[in-house]
Amino acid sequence: MSTVHDSQSSVEKHRKRPATTATGYTQTIRMFGDGPRAWLPIPDLIDEYNHCMSAVDHADQYRSNYNTIRVHRKTWKPLFHFLLDTAVDNTFLLSTYKPPPGNRGSREQSHKQYRRDLRDALFESSVRPREPNKTQRRKSTKDIVWRPVEEHQHKRVWRKQVFCSACIEAKRPTTTPHRAARKPLANLFANSTMKKREDSDGWKRRTRPPRTSWGCTVCRIPFCTRGTCWGEHLARLNTKD
Ligand SMILES: [Zn+2]
Ligand SMILES: [Zn+2]
Repeated sequence: MSTVHDSQSSVEKHRKRPATTATGYTQTIRMFGDGPRAWLPIPDLIDEYNHCMSAVDHADQYRSNYNTIRVHRKTWKPLFHFLLDTAVDNTFLLSTYKPPPGNRGSREQSHKQYRRDLRDALFESSVRPREPNKTQRRKSTKDIVWRPVEEHQHKRVWRKQVFCSACIEAKRPTTTPHRAARKPLANLFANSTMKKREDSDGWKRRTRPPRTSWGCTVCRIPFCTRGTCWGEHLARLNTKD
């Protein structure tokens, strides 16, 4: 249907003024002014659909029962909703939910139930299993891989900086000033300070351990390049021999 029309062309149709309860009343009534009827440009594809359903009423009725349309100020949106509703209604007509002719059908097989089940099925099929959490527990200096000492090398291991495990355990703070220590905002922003808000005198920023991208190539424990961190690791390796 929409593949043989360009959605630009339309035909003039003499249509009746809609009831005040009709879908999109406030939008469409402007086209009618005070008259009971008006000539309206109907997009080709909608006009053809109305005719091929052999009755405007039939298609309109299916769509009016349950429709997705909202008040829109973009011209293509009502068209989108028309197509969406039509597609959904057509799948209903083709489905086993549709009672055979002359049969009223049960509540479980109603148009409403069809749309509800369709909604649930769409939600269900779009569920994606959550990615397993990739963040690893920080390794302690004791998480040693016992390989010969010569194999342990202090090198750049990570692309992003991590906290030095040895410094965390020894409670050694970093000597690099925190970037948030820039003056005016640092004074206003209390979340990362040690003191309570009421007493603003002597606010101190929380101390942080040094960060590094270096570590042991075998144990994959982060060790910074300053101080005794790497030396302590080597010393620990040697105690094992
Ligand atoms: Zn190591
Ligand atoms: Zn360190």
